Amino acid sequence: MTELQRFIEKTCATYGGNGQCLLDRPCIYFKGSGRCSYAENAVIPGDAKIERKYRLERGAKLAGDYCESCQSPYKRKSNRQKYCPPCSKEEERKKKNYRNRKYRMTVS
Ligand SMILES: [Zn+2]
Repeated sequence: MTELQRFIEKTCATYGGNGQCLLDRPCIYFKGSGRCSYAENAVIPGDAKIERKYRLERGAKLAGDYCESCQSPYKRKSNRQKYCPPCSKEEERKKKNYRNRKYRMTVS
C-alpha cells in the first residue's frame, strides 16, 4: 500500500474500505486510475506532505500557487513570481553569483 492509499483510507470521508468508494464506485487511488476531485479538494490538502507528493507525482495542479523550486504552496504576488519567498531569495543570490562569476571571467 502506498503512502497515499494509507492516507486516503485513514482520512477520506467517502472511502468505504476494500478499495471501494462510498459513492458507489471503486476508489481511483486503489483501483483504476484518474483523479478524484473530492479527494483533491477536500482530503489531500489536509496534509501538506501528501499534497506536495501527490502534485509532484501526478503533475496535478491543485488550487493555489506552488514554488517551482521546493513545491511548497505560497501566495503569489505577481504573475512573474515563480518561487516562494525563501526560494526567490535563494534564486536571487544564485543569479547574482552567476553575474559576478561572469564579470570576473571577462576581466581576468
Ligand atoms: Zn520554495
